[in-house]
Amino acid sequence: MRRLARVAPLLLAWTATLSLAAEQPPASVILFIGDGMDEHQVTLARNYLYGAEGALAMEQLPLRSSARVQTVREDDPGQFRYVADSANTATTLATGQLTSLGRIATSATTDQDQSTILEAAQKAGLRTGLVSTASLTDATPAAFAAHTAHRSCQSPADMAKAIGYAAATQQCMADQHSRGGKGSIAEQLLAANIDVLLGGGKRYFAQSSKGTDLQKAAASQGYKLLSRRRELLEKGPGSKLLGLFAPGHLPVEWIGEGNRRAQPIALNWLGEPQFSEPFACVDNPDHRGTPTLKEMTSAALTRLSADNAKGFFLMVEGAAIDKQAHRRNPCGEIGELRAFDLAVQAGREFARSHPNTLIIVTADHGQAGQIIPLPEYFLAWGNRQYPPGYYAVLKTRSGELMAVSYATNAPPNGRGEVHTGVNVPVYLQGIDAAQVPPLMDQRQLNRLMRDHLGLNAATD
Ligand code: MG
Ligand code: ZN
Repeated sequence: MRRLARVAPLLLAWTATLSLAAEQPPASVILFIGDGMDEHQVTLARNYLYGAEGALAMEQLPLRSSARVQTVREDDPGQFRYVADSANTATTLATGQLTSLGRIATSATTDQDQSTILEAAQKAGLRTGLVSTASLTDATPAAFAAHTAHRSCQSPADMAKAIGYAAATQQCMADQHSRGGKGSIAEQLLAANIDVLLGGGKRYFAQSSKGTDLQKAAASQGYKLLSRRRELLEKGPGSKLLGLFAPGHLPVEWIGEGNRRAQPIALNWLGEPQFSEPFACVDNPDHRGTPTLKEMTSAALTRLSADNAKGFFLMVEGAAIDKQAHRRNPCGEIGELRAFDLAVQAGREFARSHPNTLIIVTADHGQAGQIIPLPEYFLAWGNRQYPPGYYAVLKTRSGELMAVSYATNAPPNGRGEVHTGVNVPVYLQGIDAAQVPPLMDQRQLNRLMRDHLGLNAATD
């Protein structure tokens, strides 16, 4: 009798845990970040792919909000800037704290490490993964597991280089091993012991640090190294994955017919605009042999969820929506947004059989592409009317015409388009609607993810 009294509470606790486990599958988060994917870029892709009455997979998530994008000044963190970059915004999504342009999970001016949701998830015994179409050392994935004064500190070779355009407080010297720092982003990503790392950036890992080759170090840490699509699709179960599928960023999926991009509008001798012919988007032959973002996402989800009672945190980035908008390449942008949306679809399929999965799809900041009227509209107003930037007319999949303009940096010498300061969309599923205000900010997104995983909020 006495013995039973001693065992009974244990038995009760045990059955309670058991029934809880049966009812509540492990909490997981998939954070999808479309780099530079504001409403304009979403609409551009949707119109091209599915027409005026269509919808992308991400737009069919049951909840949505709009997020303010916030950035503070390096020289005065009490002041805001109204245009962000991917480093400071990924930092905010990863850490729940604000910082200045270029910083990777470190604080403006004071250069203190800001702890990330990936690190908190790891501490709690969850699995973690980062997937990107960019180099894994690029700002967005970096901010989840590395801490550097500047996004340019990607590999050991970068650490001694001066960054001409960055503040004195943001040079890579601050993170050098010889100064007590943690070294480059590539080294820190490997030291972070992340279960799944899939993307580009082989060249940053094909280097040595303190006499050790980074890829060899990764292999001895238990990583299975992958460099081809076939290897990803045929990979066995079990080990940690480091997939580096290109020397730098992965090739994009689509290009314009004849490699066409948006162009400044030529004028004839009378000063009249000569609009160029519409074009469609085609497959980029250079993408062959590269895994798609959906394939990388599915591989990551399989690895992170297999025999896992504790859940995971996974960040998936569609990186080149932004990079192609900088280059005024609408087909590159649309193709990458499509690839990103297909990855979101894979996430939704996963969540169907793993119901305690929170999916958040958002962007880090706005970009430059805008849908504007067709040439006929300008010509109707007189023969000297035309848009001032780079312009392209696309033949959409359904055969309609759609014109895109990029006009944040002037032709003919503009190096590239620059980011814009618009709010970014947030699409969600797997969360109570009452927790999602119609207007939020990127720090709140971090809080929602931590709450879902049962992790403590950032303290500093
Ligand atoms: Mg990025
Ligand atoms: Zn950018």
